[in-house]
Amino acid sequence: MFDYIANSQPNIIIISDRITHMSIWEAMKIFIIRRRLLSNMIPKECKHPLEEWMAIKARMTFKKNRDLRERIGKNKLEEVTRKDFDEYQLFCVRRQMKYAEENSPYYRDKFKNAGVKPEDINTWDDLQKIPFTEPSDLAKNSMYFYAVSRTKLAREFTTTGTTGHRKFIGYTTNDLVSKIDIVASALKNIGMTSEDSLHIMFPLVTAWDPSIIMAGACKILGYKSSICSDPDVDKQLTTIKENKTTYIIGVPSFIYRITTLLEKTTPLKNLGIKKVISTSEPLPESLRHSLEETWGCKVLDVWGITEFGLACAVECDSQDGLHTDEANMLFEIIDPETGKHVPDGTFGELVITSLHAECSVLIRYRTRDIAAMIAPPCKCGAHFNRRLAKPKGRMDLQSKIGMGHKIYPILFDEVIFSNKSIVDYRVKITKEGYKDTLTFELETDTQTDVLKEKIIDDVSRITEIKQGLEEDLINKPRVTFVDPGTMKYTVKAKKILDCRENFE
Ligand SMILES: [Zn+2]
Repeated sequence: MFDYIANSQPNIIIISDRITHMSIWEAMKIFIIRRRLLSNMIPKECKHPLEEWMAIKARMTFKKNRDLRERIGKNKLEEVTRKDFDEYQLFCVRRQMKYAEENSPYYRDKFKNAGVKPEDINTWDDLQKIPFTEPSDLAKNSMYFYAVSRTKLAREFTTTGTTGHRKFIGYTTNDLVSKIDIVASALKNIGMTSEDSLHIMFPLVTAWDPSIIMAGACKILGYKSSICSDPDVDKQLTTIKENKTTYIIGVPSFIYRITTLLEKTTPLKNLGIKKVISTSEPLPESLRHSLEETWGCKVLDVWGITEFGLACAVECDSQDGLHTDEANMLFEIIDPETGKHVPDGTFGELVITSLHAECSVLIRYRTRDIAAMIAPPCKCGAHFNRRLAKPKGRMDLQSKIGMGHKIYPILFDEVIFSNKSIVDYRVKITKEGYKDTLTFELETDTQTDVLKEKIIDDVSRITEIKQGLEEDLINKPRVTFVDPGTMKYTVKAKKILDCRENFE
């Protein structure tokens, strides 16, 4: 479906055509897919399209399934409550488990060995009876998860992630339509209409390219889009101007880098950008404020994971947590040590279950992301949808310092990117005697002692560093400089480099 983009050359700008420029065959396929999108049923005046889309999916399942109607105990499902939606999700878990048991060799064995059956899952607590799926299992044998033959796939993605594992994720046409549906609902929630133009600004990713899904979704929706993965700021600016861009989506560190270099010559506020959408990496608040000031618009956060798709959780204008795609996924937060559920608002490991997947079924999949859930309602008016507190980052990107204080790149992002002259940074951890030393390498043209002292003061105030200094287990942080443009930007580059030997 998206081959017209997948076959293109790296770093080349691709502009998606309007439906009038396509072949009749392609236009027909797009017409058929567009008709299947439930997001088309969202009323125009709806204030929270994403939640309404979830309610539409729940109502459709309710209508078709007597078991769900009996559990909810209503004749009609006009106003969906959280309780109704919990029943919808548990119903979908049971159905997905049954489907996996019958079609996925991995789950057939897993459920048999654990002695768990779909009918055992009747409450939220019952979910804990289902064994976890580890990312390493998926990496070891992705095909073992597939619930349909590989010949029936519409698309297949591979990912290496940050841990070096290679995972395959297969999509049937129904899986793809479902992913496009959530992207459509998310874009509607963000305020985008067919009059707008989306500029897709991801650095080039070889195996898994979110630009493909995003541009493909725009094409099917009839939205205009452009892709530019080039780090050349002039090329970025030309694409934005030529396409009369009104929305920008991309990786925050990449957008920030382009913004910092571009704003020296161009008043970016005059370009008429309505919103900037940040995805694929945690968005530090300081970076958000800096981008909002420079572009003169709101910056919204979107969270996704290759295993489940691009828009798993989307921020609304209230900027108070990300609305989760609970129609297609069930989100749990567990204590990574005990594996037990933690209460709403408590940070832990995010575990996701697919509810409608046809190919790569994933049940209680440990994402290794650190996040928390926020109970409804939201200030935007959404009343049953649970939100995700801003994910802190991946567990495998964390390091421990001092007495075992956990540090994540986002802790430093918040402090360092509040200084607008800094384009990028890395931090190296070394051991000197019994003490840990953090050396920050900053990419900036403001290489002054004042900036150096400011960064040392700012990072020393971060709770985890402060405690380490008080315990006398960390040396005073150090700062070195490199010139702008010299630090090579790569997606998923490790910001914290742990150079300690025998470090646990
Ligand atoms: Zn909201």
